Amino acid sequence: MTSANLFPGVKVILVETSHPGNIGASARAMKNMGLTELVLVNPLDFPSMKAVFRSASAGDVVRDAKVVETVEEAIADCQLVIGTSARERRIPWPLLSPKECGEKVVTAFEGDQKVGLLFGRESRGLKNEELQQCQFHVNIPTGEAYSSLNLGMAVQVICYEVLQAKLAGRPDSGDAERDWDRPFADSAAVEHFYNHLEETLVQVGFHDPENPRQLMTRLRRLFNRIRVDQMEVNILRGFLTAINRLGKPGESQEPQEKG
Ligand code: SAH
Repeated sequence: MTSANLFPGVKVILVETSHPGNIGASARAMKNMGLTELVLVNPLDFPSMKAVFRSASAGDVVRDAKVVETVEEAIADCQLVIGTSARERRIPWPLLSPKECGEKVVTAFEGDQKVGLLFGRESRGLKNEELQQCQFHVNIPTGEAYSSLNLGMAVQVICYEVLQAKLAGRPDSGDAERDWDRPFADSAAVEHFYNHLEETLVQVGFHDPENPRQLMTRLRRLFNRIRVDQMEVNILRGFLTAINRLGKPGESQEPQEKG
């Protein structure tokens, strides 16, 4: 029997879904396109027979769905995170078309990266802080009068593009990324780095948490754009630790482990 999962390590993550029918519709949309790894962040109503019914022959995807409490947990092991959004945001983020999104996902998959595709709440999409944990955003172009697709439909469009990109074969443009000499840092490592960076910026008096402006958002966008690898994150953390030590004369010069 052929495996239903053509993309091991590529997860569809639904955040705080209200309607279990949409979970079922998303599962079906995924399985039709060869994806089976479904993660539900804090769903309102799950497990649910409505979800299983709506999924038709993708009940296995619904039943195997992993339920987690937070987006951080869902994406912790992902080296590529792409967030879907129906709207323009105040701070622009690197934006992909659905086709480009499909190509990015397949290139990352072929480079053994774990990938998270984030979909938001039916009522109000993804929060800004969730979107800021993504390296890229993807918007499905629509007619001007109504830009918000049903959740299951949005999952369908994106998963369709992932499969199309795989069927189209390897684009040369992804070679450098596939052959990178170090694994890209995962989301958990990058989040630790942002926390360490923020603490250090406060320590040296560059960042005032009472008046943050958009400093951390802009720095997140900067590093997301680069896509740091594991070694680079270690170097940056070591650099920050050295600055931390300078700011604390008299303290131990032993390297400090930051979690
Ligand atoms: N009212 C919400 C839209 C929620 S639609 C808002 O204004 O943000 C539920 C989810 O479906 C979205 O969070 C997103 O994951 C996906 N979605 C809907 N329309 C989309 C579009 N045009 N492009 C990309 N994703 C879309």
